[in-house]
Amino acid sequence: MAQDGQSQNIDALMAESRTYPPDPAFTEQANAKPGFYDQDPDEFWEREGRERLSWFTDFTTLKQWDRPYAKWYLGGKLNACYNCVDRHVENGLGDKVAYYWEGEPVDDRLTITYADLQSRVVKAANGFKSLGIGKGTKVAVYLGMIPEAPVTLLALARLGAPFTFVFGGFSATALGSRMQEMECEYLITQDAANRRGKPGPLKPTADEAMDMAPTVKTCVTVNRTGTEVDMLDGRDHWWSDVVDGQDDDPKSCPCEPMDSEDLFFLMFSSGTTGKPKGILHTTAGYLAGTSTTHHYVFDIKPETVYWCAADIGWITGHSYIVFGPLVNATTSVMYEGTPDFPDKARWWEIIERYKVNVLYTAPTTIRTHMKWGTEALQKHDLSSLKILGSVGEPINPEAWIWYRDNVGGGKCPVVDTWWQTENGMILVTPLPGLTTLKPGSATHPFIGVKAAVYDEAGKEIAPGDGAGYMVVKEPWPAMFRGLLNDDQRFRETYWSTFPDAYLAGDGARVDGDGDFWLMGRIDDVMNVSGHRLSTIEIESALVSHPDVAQAAVVSRADATTGQAIVAYVTLKDGAEGSPEKLTELRDHVGKEIGPIAKPANIVFADSLPMTRSGKIMRRLLKDVAENRALGDTTTLADPSVVNEIKERADSEK
Ligand code: ATP
Ligand code: MG
Repeated sequence: MAQDGQSQNIDALMAESRTYPPDPAFTEQANAKPGFYDQDPDEFWEREGRERLSWFTDFTTLKQWDRPYAKWYLGGKLNACYNCVDRHVENGLGDKVAYYWEGEPVDDRLTITYADLQSRVVKAANGFKSLGIGKGTKVAVYLGMIPEAPVTLLALARLGAPFTFVFGGFSATALGSRMQEMECEYLITQDAANRRGKPGPLKPTADEAMDMAPTVKTCVTVNRTGTEVDMLDGRDHWWSDVVDGQDDDPKSCPCEPMDSEDLFFLMFSSGTTGKPKGILHTTAGYLAGTSTTHHYVFDIKPETVYWCAADIGWITGHSYIVFGPLVNATTSVMYEGTPDFPDKARWWEIIERYKVNVLYTAPTTIRTHMKWGTEALQKHDLSSLKILGSVGEPINPEAWIWYRDNVGGGKCPVVDTWWQTENGMILVTPLPGLTTLKPGSATHPFIGVKAAVYDEAGKEIAPGDGAGYMVVKEPWPAMFRGLLNDDQRFRETYWSTFPDAYLAGDGARVDGDGDFWLMGRIDDVMNVSGHRLSTIEIESALVSHPDVAQAAVVSRADATTGQAIVAYVTLKDGAEGSPEKLTELRDHVGKEIGPIAKPANIVFADSLPMTRSGKIMRRLLKDVAENRALGDTTTLADPSVVNEIKERADSEK
């Protein structure tokens, strides 16, 4: 972390002081009652595991911890698909809506009840079985946000086949290398995905990827858009041929009893800080952790309409579009397309149509909506909303306030949830009926999560005493169990820095109230003239200027100051930068944080380089600032963006 090897703490220069205590009326009806945190964590997880999940064989031991290897709910047998689908139908919830699915083309909608979902899943599972998929068969999934996406995951879970879902926007190389690493034998994909009114090819990309991954012998393709694709005899099958004629009687394809610790799926991290890591998740702890957090953090009631607007291709989608909500028999909205198709009101229309109560999205999307303004939003009735969630990056206080005021009508608690692909489930988060909210703070570790902030020496920093490394000291149920084929990287990356804790890789501080503030990656912390500054604080100061839509801050080596701050800024309404604006923004940061934090350069850009999951890729901007060749760009959403920025930065030298 520290380039100079001796500074301990990030100087927390900016203090956000606004607070929002919970509404007593909300607390009254909330799932998490006062005293929630006083429960014994082991008793809590034991009870949640028993009551929230249905077991074929009850577990005998809650957990086993042989650092860094954790096991949960030992001795138990269960099936994820049974827990997400079959038992709800058996319990009389067959007519309850599982998904309100909204395709991107206007008026392309489906209401899928739990009984419909069961029928679709059993048919798919029977179809997959007819092709040879069974317990332990490794399968890659490369789909957009269509009903077949959750159906496929559930069908594979039913059969006990571990999967890796690769985000539909990824390249052939990204898909091919992931399939090869996991040695997948099957691939489930679709012809093309709707993207802003046009089909974006998936099958041709999958073809290229299969050339790189010779273990894949069979591919099933959903026909979503009617786009013509090549079908290779003997390898390629249409979904409709494999699935449509199958039996949908659940008895025709029973749910495979799986051990609590059987591999459930593999998920590659976003690649924000380097090459993506193949993260392993097992069955019972993952299901217990995701469904329990879903229930309490989003205060899910039987009648709640819930919308997690992520993509299923990310861990957020796995945990909080598919498995957590379905275990809880929740009604979810699932949307195929982009927020601006056919126009910028699409999201607000969806919320109004389905009377959505909970919206869970990412800061990048909130900032995009801020950039577009409130006109589209004001035309729609969003009064059904009760809770707003955020995940993926630190949320700038200004974006938090905007979200609360404009989307939530000033009345909805905002839950800023901190967690990682490795974590599987939300780890630090407010509980909407209990927590006093602070814009920009993820506040409180969830029950049983022993989060802490350590200094360089591995000593816990007391509340209010500054910032350091975000760590977790005890295992949690949905914790990853390792990295695929790379135990050494697993131990080195997460478990070698401190002898007694998991290293998250993020910087954080705990304030005097014990609330956590996540400050970005430890690699992104800067040292300017001896002051430790975090990128997120300076970005938040820039975003608080009325003209700024997005900001990314990095440092470059500087002979005088050690490191100098470079800011990349996009302005609202597509406005162009100017020398006057540059001075104004520098002064604004000086006023908000202090003169030391004023960027040495500001580069105005039309957009910023983002990972495909919507996170700012600071490491590439650092490469630009320091005139280096660009590092791994395989997870970049739009490679042209960084080249444009490079050209602009070069022309200004
Ligand atoms: P890689 O590990 O491959 O570099 P990544 O860390 O971006 O990729 P993810 O697991 O998708 O992959 O993202 C987790 C990271 O996202 C966290 O470590 C943290 O930096 C950031 N993050 C997520 N939620 C929050 C939040 N609420 N507040 C602050 N940061 C968050
Ligand atoms: Mg990470």
